[in-house]
Amino acid sequence: MKPLKKILFISLFFALPFSSMAWGLLGHRVVAEIAETYLSINARENVKKILGDSSMALNANWADFIKSEPSYKYLDSWHYVDFKAGMSCEDVKKYLATDTATDAYVKLNFLIKELKNKSLDKEKKKMYLRLLIHIVGDIHQPMHAAHEEDLGGNKVFVQWFGQKTNLHSVWDSKLIDDQQLSYTEYAKAINYVSTIQKQAWQKESIAQWICDTHELSENIYAGIKEPEQKLSYRYIYDNIAVANQQLLKGGVHLAGLLNEIFGN
Ligand SMILES: [Zn+2]
Repeated sequence: MKPLKKILFISLFFALPFSSMAWGLLGHRVVAEIAETYLSINARENVKKILGDSSMALNANWADFIKSEPSYKYLDSWHYVDFKAGMSCEDVKKYLATDTATDAYVKLNFLIKELKNKSLDKEKKKMYLRLLIHIVGDIHQPMHAAHEEDLGGNKVFVQWFGQKTNLHSVWDSKLIDDQQLSYTEYAKAINYVSTIQKQAWQKESIAQWICDTHELSENIYAGIKEPEQKLSYRYIYDNIAVANQQLLKGGVHLAGLLNEIFGN
């Protein structure tokens, strides 16, 4: 290869979009960073003791990082909970009430119970806390509580600025990455919630979080009217507020949950 061609080839390689299967690095870190601002003294101390010398944000993506390791394969289905198309919020809650699947809802409840156990083994505690931080983030990404028939939008193909991708990926990362903010800048930019609103959100059940996320996913599906619909600036303009609200809600919910687990 001629030098110029070689340089072009290498730079094209690195310009390829990074694909993921959950709120990307950015989304998970924003949720965790916001949550840290609302921790009680006890929760902050406990989280610090468990995670050691790195922030919640830096631990928020561990559950995605270990996906390539076969011995952690069993965790793959912990990241989402899918539903049949057309289910109402009430249907969703009814389903969750008797849910026994290996999904985000059942596993979140498992993690909460385990983390409340003070004699839990140290290594397990760390793994479970990392999973909890991650999964709370995931279930605020609308396409993580979406339709099972299209794998949460993974099989709904769209064009993003002329490139073929899918609806799941748009909501995981493309929409928010477009803001071109670091996770700390992003968290700071959207972390505006009144005390009354915060308290109201923290009183909600996990089933309610999922039902709200699911309803957003139904709106998102309704916005896709043709195969490989072209999405670009207008889509960002119309949807970024929803994504930001979900990141904020995720952070507030996560803080409420950790305060409940570790005591106020
Ligand atoms: Zn995930």
